[in-house]
Amino acid sequence: MSRFPDLKTLRILYYPDPRLRVEAAPVVKVDSLIGEMADRMRELMAEAHGLGLAATQVGWPFRLVILNTGGESEKVEVFVNPVILSRRGRILEEEGCLSVPGLYARVRRAERVHVRAIRLDGEVVEMDAEGLLARAWQHEVDHLDGRLFVDRLGPAARIALGPRLREMEERFRSGSDYSGDGEPDASEPGAM
Ligand code: ZN
Repeated sequence: MSRFPDLKTLRILYYPDPRLRVEAAPVVKVDSLIGEMADRMRELMAEAHGLGLAATQVGWPFRLVILNTGGESEKVEVFVNPVILSRRGRILEEEGCLSVPGLYARVRRAERVHVRAIRLDGEVVEMDAEGLLARAWQHEVDHLDGRLFVDRLGPAARIALGPRLREMEERFRSGSDYSGDGEPDASEPGAM
């Protein structure tokens, strides 16, 4: 981690930025820099009204995620090197991604997961999650592996959302990113 990024310049990257496709490396040492990165991610996630955010989404290719584990009571927790140890059940529900703004689609995920991760204080924790939180865990660990939820669409959704994705690809190629104030609508409720 010799080239730690300037936290102020970090922002959420948008599809199809190639940095979203990088497989993140494990965090070797949980130190104060990790805490600073998590704090900055927390700010960016709050601005976008997100439920979760992976470090790869801000272009930092290490295995760090933050998640709102408190539902409506908004408890944002930081997890380092998370691993999904087991998955149970299958469920098809709508989800959205802060890196693919404005696009929501039904994605098949495990209904329940059992997860292990390291907290900022170095404690190793294991926990069960179900419902939206289980979905968020799977979505964020996918991000750390360079995968996006649009990779998991069924054929019909892929066709339906194709034009919107191609529009985003075209905008990225032309370098215009997002028109207007340069950012999409920052309100993406429930996206992660
Ligand atoms: Zn996402």
